[in-house]
Amino acid sequence: MISLKDSFRHQGKRKQLVETIKAKGIKDEKVLSAIAKIPRHWFMDSSFEDHAYQDKAFPIGAGQTISQPYTVAFQSELLQVKKDEKVLEIGTGSGYQTAVLCELGAKVYGIERQNELFKKTKRFLEKIGYRPKRLTFGDGYKGMPNYAPFDKIIVTAGAPFIPKALLNQLIIGGRMVIPVGDDPQIMTLLIRKSAKEFEKKEFGEFRFVPLLKNKN
Ligand code: SAH
Repeated sequence: MISLKDSFRHQGKRKQLVETIKAKGIKDEKVLSAIAKIPRHWFMDSSFEDHAYQDKAFPIGAGQTISQPYTVAFQSELLQVKKDEKVLEIGTGSGYQTAVLCELGAKVYGIERQNELFKKTKRFLEKIGYRPKRLTFGDGYKGMPNYAPFDKIIVTAGAPFIPKALLNQLIIGGRMVIPVGDDPQIMTLLIRKSAKEFEKKEFGEFRFVPLLKNKN
């Protein structure tokens, strides 16, 4: 059950969460205010509400997780989202990262490979007033060629390799943030320098559920 209450207690805990991720090194004020604003407990079953403002990933059913707030903030900061940019998000999951991108002013195009989760999250985001441009059920490895190119691409599941299709859908000057490898993954930033050249930077270890082939 999702309860859409946001009490002072929730808000207070959220402030503490923001302090925690600030202390861990997140500096981008826009990212911090998005985290301060979005009621993360809405994205979880109300019986687990107490976990919502701990800086931890949490299971959301179907073997999936809502990413750790620090990780969401870290990826969002690396992405450097500007208002009205087109952002492709692979792995919509609970929709929490999607909501953060919406708060940053992005036009979000999301892909989720689990149909049940996709349907549930699509309805839920509408209900709480976040309006991504497009959410689709599909295979993120393929990206969204019909809507490409994108200014930014964010992958929120662990990719065994960097999918070529995604690189192709990035504008020149665009940035892609993707955790690469098995377990753990290395957070990787790719900046498209020209049609064929990408600059690659790595940012340490993170743990994600795997980016899976095909859909179900
Ligand atoms: N951004 C999400 C993170 C969810 S975990 C959040 O904040 O809640 C990663 C998500 O990626 C899962 O929902 C999983 O089903 C999805 N996923 C895994 N492989 C995928 C693929 N090939 N294409 C699209 N989504 C995928």
